[in-house]
Amino acid sequence: MSMSKPIEVAVIGAGMGGLAVAAMLSRIGCKVDIYEQAHQLARIGAGIQQSPNATVVLRELGLESWLRKKAFYPHFGVSKDWDTGAITNVLPMGEAIESRYGAPFLLMHRGDLHEGILSAVPEGILHLNKKLVGIEPNGGRPKADFADGTVIEADLIIGADGVHSKTQEILFGKTDPVFSGRVAYRTTFPASLMGELQIADRTKWWGPDKHIVIYYTTREKSEVYFVTSLVEEGFSIESWSTQGDVNMLRDHYAGFHPEVQAVLKACPSVHKWALVDRQPLASWSTGSVALLGDACHPMTPYMAQGAATAIEDAAVLSRCIQQVDRDGISEALKLYEAVRKPRTSAIQKTAAENTWMKNKTDADWVYGHNAWTEPLVAAADP
Ligand code: FAD
Repeated sequence: MSMSKPIEVAVIGAGMGGLAVAAMLSRIGCKVDIYEQAHQLARIGAGIQQSPNATVVLRELGLESWLRKKAFYPHFGVSKDWDTGAITNVLPMGEAIESRYGAPFLLMHRGDLHEGILSAVPEGILHLNKKLVGIEPNGGRPKADFADGTVIEADLIIGADGVHSKTQEILFGKTDPVFSGRVAYRTTFPASLMGELQIADRTKWWGPDKHIVIYYTTREKSEVYFVTSLVEEGFSIESWSTQGDVNMLRDHYAGFHPEVQAVLKACPSVHKWALVDRQPLASWSTGSVALLGDACHPMTPYMAQGAATAIEDAAVLSRCIQQVDRDGISEALKLYEAVRKPRTSAIQKTAAENTWMKNKTDADWVYGHNAWTEPLVAAADP
């Protein structure tokens, strides 16, 4: 990329994917601005797993030691039967997974991950209160306009605006993501509320028609997180802030193992979120406007790969842009899609099956992937 006049980039959305791509493109000399609809960045009460394929990318942003200081470092990922607690699978984590894939598996508060990636973004480029309402992708440089009347243009616009992506709707027409019929209840709370109870490192309790995943989110085990998946008719709202009914949640899990019930008993409040999915899109870009993360490949969370793949997208997109000048942007975006789509489509499909790690599972193709070194050629299905 010639740096005589830097490529100007507008990123729509300051989620994990938007912040990551903004940080990476800034590092290679692009002039980046981020436009986020929210008036402030909220710290949502949820945990997040970052597998080695994500942490290997974040390492290049200089975030590894900061994340290690904050995050819980699990030694095992365990699958158990919902009622007996019989172990059906154990994934060695800790040093074992780190030496296998060259990067750690970390469990953390979502807000800590977000804050970490934000710290890698140059100051002054994040613009809050900017809700995208329109994009004109054709004819010269693409333009975007916002609800407050602001109009901008850039050499490249990246829609990292999440599962209900306005960018995606503008480029390809409105198609709603598919509601899976299932609901995730989730929350984080102080581990001290559980009294003497110590939970295993990361456990997924598999019931016949529902499950719950429980883990610590801080290095010193001071905070606990859980997330469920269960059928609940008539609820299809995806909002990070919708309150769930804790007593109803406890009833749903009444027959589960006493350890699960003890965790649910200790939890003071909970949020709920409808789980959605989408078939792989036919295309991820038009001209010099491209999609990234949930905007192009939303998935059910059963492999914990949504943010991880958005972070991988960011690395590959920045590598494709680094190879070209302004004139080559649309070709670079086609290459980005060709490299990424087979992988994200395979992960979307596997996640929807909700069998990942229930029994012995080959995880190499997911956790062993390095977005910094994967060849920049159209990829075959993994
Ligand atoms: P988002 O994080 O959704 O960010 C999109 C941003 O765009 C938001 O800030 C939004 O406000 C903004 N925006 C939207 N519309 C506009 C607009 N019109 N104008 C301007 N801004 C706009 N992933 C993992 O890797 N590990 C996990 O353990 C994990 N657990 C999960 C558990 C659950 C229950 C769920 C539902 C998801 C989980 N995920 C996990 C997935 C992960 O949360 C998402 O895949 C990830 O947040 C996607 O990042 P993103 O940047 O693409 O989108």
